[in-house]
Amino acid sequence: MGKIGWIDSHAHLAYQEYDQDLPQIITNAKERNVSRIMIVTLTDDETRKALTLNEQYGMFDVAYGFHPSDLDKISENGFEVLEDFLKNRQLKAIGEIGLDYYWHNDNKEEQKAVFIRQIDLANKYEVPIIVHMRDSASDTLDILKKHRPIKGGIMHCYSGSVEMAFEYIKCGMYISLGGPVTFKNAHTPKEVAKAVQIEWLLTETDCPYLTPHPFRGKRNEPAMVELIGLQIAQLRGMDADDLMVKVAENYYRLFDQSCESYVK
Ligand SMILES: [Zn+2]
Repeated sequence: MGKIGWIDSHAHLAYQEYDQDLPQIITNAKERNVSRIMIVTLTDDETRKALTLNEQYGMFDVAYGFHPSDLDKISENGFEVLEDFLKNRQLKAIGEIGLDYYWHNDNKEEQKAVFIRQIDLANKYEVPIIVHMRDSASDTLDILKKHRPIKGGIMHCYSGSVEMAFEYIKCGMYISLGGPVTFKNAHTPKEVAKAVQIEWLLTETDCPYLTPHPFRGKRNEPAMVELIGLQIAQLRGMDADDLMVKVAENYYRLFDQSCESYVK
Protein backbone atom coordinates (compact mmCIF):
# COMPACT_ATOMS: atom_id res chain seq x y z
CA MET A 1 0.00 0.00 0.00
CA GLY A 2 1.25 3.46 -0.82
CA LYS A 3 2.18 5.65 2.09
CA ILE A 4 1.28 9.33 2.00
CA GLY A 5 4.23 11.71 2.10
CA TRP A 6 6.31 13.62 -0.42
CA ILE A 7 6.89 11.78 -3.67
CA ASP A 8 10.10 11.84 -5.69
CA SER A 9 8.96 10.49 -9.04
CA HIS A 10 12.43 10.60 -10.60
CA ALA A 11 15.72 9.92 -8.79
CA HIS A 12 18.94 8.37 -10.08
CA LEU A 13 19.84 6.78 -6.78
CA ALA A 14 21.62 3.83 -8.41
CA TYR A 15 24.31 6.21 -9.71
CA GLN A 16 27.79 5.78 -8.25
CA GLU A 17 27.47 9.28 -6.77
CA TYR A 18 25.46 7.75 -3.92
CA ASP A 19 27.54 4.65 -3.24
CA GLN A 20 29.38 6.27 -0.33
CA ASP A 21 26.45 7.57 1.70
CA LEU A 22 23.17 6.04 0.51
CA PRO A 23 21.96 5.12 4.04
CA GLN A 24 22.34 8.78 5.03
CA ILE A 25 20.50 9.87 1.86
CA ILE A 26 17.59 7.58 2.79
CA THR A 27 17.59 8.87 6.38
CA ASN A 28 17.51 12.46 5.10
CA ALA A 29 14.56 11.61 2.83
CA LYS A 30 12.58 10.00 5.65
CA GLU A 31 13.28 12.99 7.91
CA ARG A 32 11.72 15.25 5.25
CA ASN A 33 8.68 12.94 5.07
CA VAL A 34 9.49 11.50 1.62
CA SER A 35 7.46 8.32 1.39
CA ARG A 36 8.17 6.93 -2.08
CA ILE A 37 10.98 7.32 -4.60
CA MET A 38 11.05 6.16 -8.22
CA ILE A 39 14.60 5.09 -9.03
CA VAL A 40 15.19 5.65 -12.74
CA THR A 41 17.97 3.50 -14.17
CA LEU A 42 19.91 3.76 -17.42
CA THR A 43 21.61 0.33 -17.54
CA ASP A 44 20.68 -3.23 -16.59
CA ASP A 45 23.37 -3.18 -13.86
CA GLU A 46 21.80 -0.09 -12.33
CA THR A 47 18.40 -1.78 -12.56
CA ARG A 48 19.58 -4.82 -10.59
CA LYS A 49 21.18 -2.50 -8.04
CA ALA A 50 17.93 -0.53 -7.65
CA LEU A 51 15.89 -3.73 -7.21
CA THR A 52 18.28 -4.87 -4.48
CA LEU A 53 18.00 -1.49 -2.77
CA ASN A 54 14.24 -1.86 -2.73
CA GLU A 55 14.53 -5.25 -1.04
CA GLN A 56 16.57 -3.48 1.61
CA TYR A 57 14.54 -0.30 2.09
CA GLY A 58 11.08 -1.03 0.66
CA MET A 59 10.37 2.56 -0.38
CA PHE A 60 11.39 2.47 -4.03
CA ASP A 61 9.84 1.77 -7.38
CA VAL A 62 12.10 1.08 -10.35
CA ALA A 63 11.87 2.34 -13.94
CA TYR A 64 14.29 1.32 -16.67
CA GLY A 65 14.47 2.26 -20.32
CA PHE A 66 16.79 3.40 -23.09
CA HIS A 67 17.52 7.13 -22.81
CA PRO A 68 17.56 8.99 -26.16
CA SER A 69 21.19 10.04 -25.50
CA ASP A 70 22.28 6.41 -25.18
CA LEU A 71 21.21 5.06 -28.58
CA ASP A 72 24.73 3.91 -29.44
CA LYS A 73 24.65 1.56 -26.43
CA ILE A 74 21.41 -0.21 -27.40
CA SER A 75 21.43 -3.77 -28.73
CA GLU A 76 18.84 -6.46 -29.41
CA ASN A 77 20.20 -8.27 -26.40
CA GLY A 78 19.62 -5.13 -24.35
CA PHE A 79 15.97 -5.13 -25.42
CA GLU A 80 15.66 -8.77 -24.36
CA VAL A 81 17.04 -7.96 -20.91
CA LEU A 82 14.61 -5.03 -20.60
CA GLU A 83 11.75 -7.33 -21.55
CA ASP A 84 12.86 -9.92 -19.00
CA PHE A 85 12.57 -7.33 -16.22
CA LEU A 86 9.06 -6.56 -17.48
CA LYS A 87 8.06 -10.23 -17.68
CA ASN A 88 9.18 -10.62 -14.08
CA ARG A 89 7.06 -7.60 -13.08
CA GLN A 90 10.16 -5.90 -11.66
CA LEU A 91 9.60 -2.52 -13.32
CA LYS A 92 6.85 -0.07 -12.46
CA ALA A 93 7.48 1.92 -15.65
CA ILE A 94 9.63 2.13 -18.75
CA GLY A 95 11.76 5.24 -18.65
CA GLU A 96 13.32 7.47 -19.16
CA ILE A 97 12.58 7.34 -22.86
CA GLY A 98 11.85 10.03 -25.41
CA LEU A 99 13.49 12.54 -27.72
CA ASP A 100 16.45 14.79 -27.01
CA TYR A 101 17.23 17.15 -29.90
CA TYR A 102 19.35 19.40 -27.70
CA TRP A 103 22.26 16.96 -27.43
CA HIS A 104 21.53 14.93 -30.57
CA ASN A 105 20.15 16.57 -33.67
CA ASP A 106 21.47 14.16 -36.29
CA ASN A 107 19.58 10.94 -35.44
CA LYS A 108 15.98 12.08 -34.99
CA GLU A 109 14.42 9.18 -36.90
CA GLU A 110 16.40 6.64 -34.90
CA GLN A 111 15.39 8.33 -31.63
CA LYS A 112 11.73 8.23 -32.70
CA ALA A 113 11.91 4.54 -33.59
CA VAL A 114 13.45 3.57 -30.24
CA PHE A 115 10.91 5.73 -28.38
CA ILE A 116 7.97 4.11 -30.21
CA ARG A 117 9.35 0.60 -29.70
CA GLN A 118 9.54 1.21 -25.96
CA ILE A 119 5.99 2.64 -25.84
CA ASP A 120 4.82 -0.55 -27.55
CA LEU A 121 6.68 -2.58 -24.93
CA ALA A 122 5.09 -0.56 -22.10
CA ASN A 123 1.67 -1.21 -23.63
CA LYS A 124 2.39 -4.94 -23.99
CA TYR A 125 3.23 -5.22 -20.27
CA GLU A 126 0.71 -2.56 -19.21
CA VAL A 127 3.06 -0.19 -17.44
CA PRO A 128 3.30 3.62 -17.70
CA ILE A 129 6.18 5.42 -19.42
CA ILE A 130 8.49 8.17 -18.13
CA VAL A 131 9.33 10.67 -20.86
CA HIS A 132 12.48 12.72 -21.29
CA MET A 133 11.90 15.59 -23.70
CA ARG A 134 14.35 18.29 -24.69
CA ASP A 135 13.86 20.67 -27.64
CA SER A 136 11.42 18.12 -29.05
CA ALA A 137 7.99 19.21 -27.77
CA SER A 138 5.96 18.81 -30.96
CA ASP A 139 7.55 15.55 -32.19
CA THR A 140 7.05 14.08 -28.71
CA LEU A 141 3.38 15.07 -28.72
CA ASP A 142 2.95 13.70 -32.21
CA ILE A 143 4.29 10.29 -31.14
CA LEU A 144 2.22 10.21 -27.94
CA LYS A 145 -0.92 10.90 -29.97
CA LYS A 146 -0.20 8.21 -32.56
CA HIS A 147 1.23 5.65 -30.12
CA ARG A 148 -0.90 6.30 -27.08
CA PRO A 149 0.63 4.91 -23.85
CA ILE A 150 -2.37 2.94 -22.57
CA LYS A 151 -1.32 3.17 -18.92
CA GLY A 152 -0.31 6.82 -19.25
CA GLY A 153 2.92 8.15 -17.89
CA ILE A 154 5.00 11.08 -16.69
CA MET A 155 6.48 14.07 -18.50
CA HIS A 156 9.63 14.15 -16.40
CA CYS A 157 11.06 17.48 -15.22
CA TYR A 158 8.60 19.21 -17.49
CA SER A 159 10.00 22.41 -18.96
CA GLY A 160 7.52 23.04 -21.78
CA SER A 161 4.72 25.57 -22.10
CA VAL A 162 1.38 25.62 -20.30
CA GLU A 163 -0.46 25.04 -23.60
CA MET A 164 1.59 21.95 -24.43
CA ALA A 165 1.19 20.62 -20.87
CA PHE A 166 -2.57 20.42 -21.48
CA GLU A 167 -1.92 18.53 -24.73
CA TYR A 168 0.27 15.93 -22.97
CA ILE A 169 -2.34 15.55 -20.25
CA LYS A 170 -4.87 14.66 -22.96
CA CYS A 171 -2.54 11.75 -23.80
CA GLY A 172 -2.71 10.51 -20.19
CA MET A 173 0.60 12.05 -19.16
CA TYR A 174 1.19 13.54 -15.72
CA ILE A 175 3.27 16.71 -15.47
CA SER A 176 6.19 16.30 -13.07
CA LEU A 177 7.99 19.40 -11.83
CA GLY A 178 11.51 19.50 -10.44
CA GLY A 179 14.13 21.94 -9.17
CA PRO A 180 13.66 24.57 -11.91
CA VAL A 181 10.26 25.54 -10.42
CA THR A 182 12.25 26.98 -7.47
CA PHE A 183 14.69 28.97 -9.63
CA LYS A 184 14.04 32.72 -9.47
CA ASN A 185 14.35 33.31 -13.21
CA ALA A 186 12.40 30.21 -14.30
CA HIS A 187 9.16 31.81 -15.39
CA THR A 188 7.56 28.99 -17.39
CA PRO A 189 7.75 26.17 -14.81
CA LYS A 190 6.09 28.50 -12.30
CA GLU A 191 3.28 29.21 -14.77
CA VAL A 192 2.86 25.47 -15.34
CA ALA A 193 2.79 24.84 -11.58
CA LYS A 194 -0.11 27.27 -11.26
CA ALA A 195 -2.05 26.28 -14.37
CA VAL A 196 -2.03 22.48 -14.50
CA GLN A 197 -4.97 20.68 -12.86
CA ILE A 198 -3.89 19.37 -9.46
CA GLU A 199 -4.95 15.83 -10.46
CA TRP A 200 -2.17 15.79 -13.07
CA LEU A 201 0.77 17.15 -11.04
CA LEU A 202 3.75 15.21 -9.75
CA THR A 203 7.03 16.18 -8.09
CA GLU A 204 10.58 14.96 -8.58
CA THR A 205 14.21 15.82 -7.94
CA ASP A 206 15.97 14.21 -10.97
CA CYS A 207 18.82 13.91 -8.49
CA PRO A 208 21.81 14.20 -8.64
CA TYR A 209 20.95 16.95 -11.14
CA LEU A 210 18.85 20.13 -10.93
CA THR A 211 19.26 20.88 -7.22
CA PRO A 212 16.54 23.28 -6.04
CA HIS A 213 17.10 26.76 -4.68
CA PRO A 214 18.78 27.58 -2.22
CA PHE A 215 21.09 24.57 -2.63
CA ARG A 216 22.04 25.01 -6.30
CA GLY A 217 25.57 23.80 -6.90
CA LYS A 218 25.31 21.02 -4.31
CA ARG A 219 24.45 17.41 -5.13
CA ASN A 220 20.69 16.93 -5.26
CA GLU A 221 18.89 14.19 -3.26
CA PRO A 222 15.28 13.01 -2.65
CA ALA A 223 14.98 14.95 0.66
CA MET A 224 14.95 18.13 -1.43
CA VAL A 225 11.69 17.23 -3.16
CA GLU A 226 10.01 18.88 -0.17
CA LEU A 227 11.39 22.26 -1.33
CA ILE A 228 9.79 21.67 -4.73
CA GLY A 229 6.46 20.73 -3.16
CA LEU A 230 6.52 23.78 -0.87
CA GLN A 231 7.23 26.05 -3.84
CA ILE A 232 4.36 24.60 -5.89
CA ALA A 233 1.98 24.89 -2.93
CA GLN A 234 2.97 28.52 -2.45
CA LEU A 235 2.51 29.31 -6.15
CA ARG A 236 -0.94 27.71 -6.12
CA GLY A 237 -1.87 29.36 -2.83
CA MET A 238 -2.67 26.04 -1.24
CA ASP A 239 -1.77 24.27 1.96
CA ALA A 240 1.46 22.29 1.60
CA ASP A 241 0.00 19.22 3.31
CA ASP A 242 -2.95 19.21 0.91
CA LEU A 243 -0.57 19.38 -2.05
CA MET A 244 1.51 16.54 -0.61
CA VAL A 245 -1.59 14.34 -0.30
CA LYS A 246 -2.79 15.15 -3.83
CA VAL A 247 0.60 14.41 -5.39
CA ALA A 248 0.88 11.12 -3.50
CA GLU A 249 -2.63 10.12 -4.60
CA ASN A 250 -1.73 10.98 -8.20
CA TYR A 251 1.40 8.86 -8.04
CA TYR A 252 -0.31 5.81 -6.59
CA ARG A 253 -3.23 6.16 -9.02
CA LEU A 254 -0.83 6.19 -11.96
CA PHE A 255 0.95 3.08 -10.75
CA ASP A 256 -2.24 1.24 -9.73
CA GLN A 257 -1.31 1.08 -6.09
CA SER A 258 -3.84 1.58 -3.36
CA CYS A 259 -3.09 4.47 -1.10
CA GLU A 260 -3.58 4.68 2.63
CA SER A 261 -5.96 7.42 3.69
CA TYR A 262 -4.30 10.44 5.17
CA VAL A 263 -5.36 11.78 8.54
CA LYS A 264 -4.04 15.21 9.37
ZN1 LIG B 1 16.63 11.48 -15.29
